[in-house]
Amino acid sequence: MEKMKAWVTTAKDVLELQERPIPELKGNEALVRIRAMGICGSDQHYLHDWKIGDLVLTEPLVLGHECSGEVVKVGPEVTRVKVGDRVVVEPGIACGKCVYCKSGKYNLCPDMQFMGQPPTDGCLQEYVAWPDDLLFKMPDDMTYQQGALIEPFTVALQALRLSQFSFSSSAVVVGAGTIGLMTIQALKAAGAGRIISVDVNPFKLEMARKMGATDTINSAEVQDLPGCVRAMTDGLGAMYGYECCGLESTYYEMASLVRDGATVTLMGLLPEDGNKMPMTNSVLREIKYHTVIRYTNVFAEALTLLHYGRADITPVLSHQFPFSQADKAFHEAMTNKKDAIKVMINF
Ligand SMILES: [Zn+2]
Ligand SMILES: [Zn+2]
Repeated sequence: MEKMKAWVTTAKDVLELQERPIPELKGNEALVRIRAMGICGSDQHYLHDWKIGDLVLTEPLVLGHECSGEVVKVGPEVTRVKVGDRVVVEPGIACGKCVYCKSGKYNLCPDMQFMGQPPTDGCLQEYVAWPDDLLFKMPDDMTYQQGALIEPFTVALQALRLSQFSFSSSAVVVGAGTIGLMTIQALKAAGAGRIISVDVNPFKLEMARKMGATDTINSAEVQDLPGCVRAMTDGLGAMYGYECCGLESTYYEMASLVRDGATVTLMGLLPEDGNKMPMTNSVLREIKYHTVIRYTNVFAEALTLLHYGRADITPVLSHQFPFSQADKAFHEAMTNKKDAIKVMINF
């Protein structure tokens, strides 16, 4: 049996380079030689805590779910891709049979097998066998690194869809990490009017401006953040709010940054329940809250937006490491709070 290299988390904060057999193909699967992988916040949580909420690692796992690669072999039922195709991988396999899958909300499938989430191995290994309906052909001019950035971009596109964002509206985006910056690009592509980016990190705010924010606010430097946002939005607050931090304080604060009747989308993930929310204020002002988990049917659209230059997500790529130094890449992502946004591993 042919072997490949895989980085396996074998204990908390431990990544070990191991040899494993190259996966066998099922009929509908293609063998993808992984070429680039972005490190996600969730990968870092799994490595450090061995759990996210109820999802707990009970045995060693290969992390990673933001990836692109090259098709090197196909199963007999594969029709959508061929050997040599460069592809972006949608990382969740839904059952296709449950009430959620059948109604198009396959992101809620209870039997979802998600790359790098226990018990399914992820893409921090040289080869992955994956169903062909979850492989999307990349345009020739797109790099593997750009391909690996698409997964977090689809989260932003899904958030805009669910919030029913409308052309020319104002938006406030709290948090300018990968998801915040992706949301700013999605808003720009959707024809937003004013896009206000809020963060405490000057480097990230600079990046937000490069990626399409019309205004930036360093919330560590202002006394009255809601007042600042209102001053930029006719004294009313933004029409849409997007929370991209996953902090109790920013969750709570969102209502104060938007106008009455506005829609707030909560995209950051809080580590546990029990946080306060200003629900009396929100009810009296008819604030609508949306949440978003992953995506449905949006990878093809993301590729189109990037191919035709409607959006450019490349600037979020801040650090790159070779596959042989994946442990160093994780270390950089987890410790560099200054200018690390998306850390990429190249195979
Ligand atoms: Zn991710
Ligand atoms: Zn299902």
